[in-house]
Amino acid sequence: MNTLTNGQFNELRGVIRGEILQANDTGYDNARAVWNAMIDRRPAIIVRCAGTADVRASLAYARDHQLRLAVRGGGHNIAGSALCDDGLVIDLSGMKSVQVDPERRRAWVEGGATLRDFDHEAQAYGLATPLGINSTTGVAGLTLGGGFGWLSRTLGLAADNLLSAEMVTADAGRLQVSAAEHPDLFWAIRGGGGNFGVVTRFEFALHPVGPQITAGLIVYPFDQARSVLQQYRDAVATMAPDLTVWAVLRKAPPLPFLAPQVHGQDVLVLPVFSPSPSDAVDAGIARMAKLGEPLGMHVGPMPYAAWQQIFDPMLTPGARNYWKSHNFAQLSDGAIDVVMRYAGNLPTAQCEIFLGLLGGQAGAPPPQATAYPHRDALYVMNVHTRWEDPADDERCIAWARDFFADATPFASGGVYVNFMPQDEGERTSDAYGANYARLAQIKATYDPDNLFRTNQNIRPASA
Ligand code: FAD
Repeated sequence: MNTLTNGQFNELRGVIRGEILQANDTGYDNARAVWNAMIDRRPAIIVRCAGTADVRASLAYARDHQLRLAVRGGGHNIAGSALCDDGLVIDLSGMKSVQVDPERRRAWVEGGATLRDFDHEAQAYGLATPLGINSTTGVAGLTLGGGFGWLSRTLGLAADNLLSAEMVTADAGRLQVSAAEHPDLFWAIRGGGGNFGVVTRFEFALHPVGPQITAGLIVYPFDQARSVLQQYRDAVATMAPDLTVWAVLRKAPPLPFLAPQVHGQDVLVLPVFSPSPSDAVDAGIARMAKLGEPLGMHVGPMPYAAWQQIFDPMLTPGARNYWKSHNFAQLSDGAIDVVMRYAGNLPTAQCEIFLGLLGGQAGAPPPQATAYPHRDALYVMNVHTRWEDPADDERCIAWARDFFADATPFASGGVYVNFMPQDEGERTSDAYGANYARLAQIKATYDPDNLFRTNQNIRPASA
């Protein structure tokens, strides 16, 4: 590590409007905690930026003093890429403003805003853009990696709805990027992660959504799960894009619509969602409820903002987490067999295997339209391994790795960059496939020294 003198450190203090934290400061441990408790990094300096000027000054300082740099948005990345050991963290968690123009259906969102911040402001006008399923996730990291959720089959990825971004680049300069200005960089940040600069402000397209939508859960017993999954697969192949149904295998949470004896049992949960209630949507949901004999279901109208927070209690920060993810263009019987085998042997009660359904507008653009290339992935499968006790690390991680290995022959290749754990650096080229070479060229133009490398790193192409 590069050791700083007091004088050098005071230089930074003099140019920052926000808060600066070092190891002995109150609040330091809180500021270095991220969603995944497996991550235990100790930055030398955390700068809680108050605005773009702080971002520029911190970045210039890190570069000039050869400090490793990390950038923190919502702090949810499973690999802990919001933090580095020893270096400087540009922490955007104080920059959360969201401004909405309801007439033009536009939102301007600062780099530290969470999904909840965004939905709160946009829903005040009955507007939304596709984001993820857990409201404490950062808009920044989610969007820069692609970003999918309940609205994606109808309205595309978060990145597909990005119209422009204000960025601080490796030279500490400010750039406005869009389809018209620096289009190469605009292409790269729609999937290429935090490799190209710090986004201080995003501009999104908004769409009328809610306030009421139709959503809920259908819960099947585990002994019907194989048959239900096979029928689910056949049904979703022709399902209209305004209906989304995911499949989650886990222990039943203590939901009030389930009998107490079901709580804690292995189950298959089908979360259903539609932004545009209609008879056709009702018929699609009714079909999902007849794939077997559900243990219970609770589906109906509810506020969109409430649905966006409904899974938060199961995704709280502070637990130990390890993920493994595959894309599937189709769900073969072989894949279902593997899912069933591992779902029947979950290492802890908090673990789950989920199949997120994409397709529709999420699959419509060609793979080279944005840096996110996996437009053929109808399902993104993620193994959420989650536990509390460090003594369980080895057992839980081994279960996830074994599942991943056994499922590999049935996967369609590639991986969603936002689901890659810290030991998967070698998969970054899989995350971009044929788009990797273009990303490496753009990286060489805008960040030739790889200042932004605390991430799923794209290396600058050599000249
Ligand atoms: P951070 O850890 O703060 O940042 C992630 C990466 O982005 C880091 O490399 C960081 O340096 C970079 N970065 C952050 N902010 C900026 C910025 N302003 N400018 C430049 N670079 C920046 N993904 C989905 O697509 N859909 C989901 O439904 C979904 N659900 C999730 C639920 C949970 C509980 C969790 C933990 C994750 C989920 N994800 C989902 C994955 C999520 O998209 C990634 O974890 C994403 O990286 C989180 O972004 P963040 O800003 O919170 O994270």
